[in-house]
Amino acid sequence: MALITHVNVANAVNEIYCCLRNKIVKLDAQQKEQFCKGCKMFAGSAAGYERSVSCVWEDLRTVNNPHVVLDPAQEFIHNQIRQVPPEGPALFVYTPRW
Ligand code: SF4
Repeated sequence: MALITHVNVANAVNEIYCCLRNKIVKLDAQQKEQFCKGCKMFAGSAAGYERSVSCVWEDLRTVNNPHVVLDPAQEFIHNQIRQVPPEGPALFVYTPRW
């Protein structure tokens, strides 16, 4: 997996897709203070975009780096698809409780 810089540019109603919260949020003071400020993925605002936030996280998808997100709704939908790693799903041992 690659560490990708996701440049989330706020849309016309100041919304972005937030990976931490896995939802579309307003990029307002509350989001910045309560979530972005302490988020390990936070990488500042993106140069060239007035209302934006850059978030760095490992992305299983094949995307550009940086990955510029202009449509938070599409980004939300694309992030709900969970991909199975090439080595297959994790195996686990079932241990009954008795
Ligand atoms: S920095 Fe974290 S909390 Fe802020 S938008 Fe990105 S993922 Fe969400």
